[in-house]
Amino acid sequence: MNLERIGVDESVSTVFPPEKLVEALSGLPVEVERVDGSPDSLADCQAVVTFVNREAFLDLEWVHSIQAGVDRFSRERFEEAGVVLSNSTGIHGDAIGETVATQVLMLARRFHVHVANQRRREWSQPGWDDAWTVAGEQACVVGLGGLGRGIVDRLTGLGIDVVGVRRTPTPEPGVDRVYPAERLHDGIADARFVVLAVPLVEETRNLFDDEVLSAMREDAYLVNVARGGVVDQSALVDALESGEIAGAALDVFETEPLPESSPLWEMDDVIVSPHCGAFIDEYYRHIAAIVRESVRRVQTGDEPANRVF
Ligand code: NAD
Repeated sequence: MNLERIGVDESVSTVFPPEKLVEALSGLPVEVERVDGSPDSLADCQAVVTFVNREAFLDLEWVHSIQAGVDRFSRERFEEAGVVLSNSTGIHGDAIGETVATQVLMLARRFHVHVANQRRREWSQPGWDDAWTVAGEQACVVGLGGLGRGIVDRLTGLGIDVVGVRRTPTPEPGVDRVYPAERLHDGIADARFVVLAVPLVEETRNLFDDEVLSAMREDAYLVNVARGGVVDQSALVDALESGEIAGAALDVFETEPLPESSPLWEMDDVIVSPHCGAFIDEYYRHIAAIVRESVRRVQTGDEPANRVF
């Protein structure tokens, strides 16, 4: 790859100002410029760093996604066009770990209720048996990659016993038992919190359907920081409405933004956040570090870091 110019697509502004990344990449032996995604603005670029996917990227040589999930990009079309895709897996464990710790603590300590009451200036103490402690409870983390690692560290730090599920059930520090994907039911059966941290791929689409949701404990909470498509959202609404599970903390949804008409907005024991579980002020610096390493590799004839396909 003869790399002379990298575009920073304006879509990264969903997560940080594009100028911040352009600035953080200064001093590289290639030009780095903000682009608006139009074929014109990409004309002299061989590569782009982006949040969204665009048709015009198929004329480039390398696309770097600032997300870990690559469900926006078609492997088939990229391979056909000979375009390399790399992602930003590996940088989200700390932020998502803290997000999940916040979600489980809010649910157990009832802070989602207190915050809602505060907005109405309502002094309302919880029932004697509403609040509980997470220490000694069990969590099942489904997907033990970069996200899973950050989640396991925080949850074990809170005294939670963690089991996990992943495709190859190799042991993972801090995880009492690791189940293979085929034994998902066994993994989730005793968990008070089921935390989803898998990529959205064919095998994980609608993985949490009515059958899997009904295999969870009635007092269990579903935490989804992966992708909305991993859960059958209408089955989830049914499970919440019928009391089949106790509640949920959801950062991702089938349709984003979550439509105003969704019943999830109004449910007492559901915490909704706008797909921002990994947002941190330093995000652009982490992306810059990956891109710098990739440029170094490309210039020595190697492939970009974190190549997906
Ligand atoms: P990763 O590739 O490091 O880890 C994914 C893990 O899931 C791997 O251990 C893999 O073996 C496992 N896995 C795959 N299929 C599975 C299955 N069927 N059953 C059980 N385990 C399975 O990726 P990561 O960085 O940990 O990110 C995981 C996903 O989380 C991303 O693909 C993305 O969609 C999502 N994500 C969301 C946010 C957010 O803002 N909410 C941020 C980062 C990542």
